Amino acid sequence: MNIQNDKQRERPSFLVDGMLGSLARKLRILGFDTLYSADDDSRLMAIARETKRYLVTSDTELFFLSRRRKLKSILIVSRTDRDRLYEVLSSLGESEINLERSARCSVCNGELIVSGRREKERSILTCVSCWKSFWKGGHWKKLFVLFEEVDAMLRERRC
Ligand SMILES: [Zn+2]
Repeated sequence: MNIQNDKQRERPSFLVDGMLGSLARKLRILGFDTLYSADDDSRLMAIARETKRYLVTSDTELFFLSRRRKLKSILIVSRTDRDRLYEVLSSLGESEINLERSARCSVCNGELIVSGRREKERSILTCVSCWKSFWKGGHWKKLFVLFEEVDAMLRERRC
């Protein structure tokens, strides 16, 4: 995995439709600015246009409609988070997962700041918007395995 700082690169941002909440949370944890909305199709397309986001949807009709309207959009056809994450990142041409990017709040997409320490080296991160706190506990191991799998899939594709 790339642990280099990639601030120089413009990061894509997303608007994820109401069917894909779990994917939206994972994109936020990976540091992508990600809105999640269960609004109707026309509202989703309006938000995507206004905010210049990729519209991420598993709704084929919405995907083709947004393409016709020249919006950036990504169609999700897979059923697991691992495959869905791969679909998003590979369609953007990403060749690896970058875990050094600052995570965003998985609940509200707010920015996280370091607010303390837990046990030895674990930072506690707090969201500046909803004040929820996070740290890399047991759930993180599962997430890390998933991110590693997606990373391997992206690297394999690159070869
Ligand atoms: Zn938050």
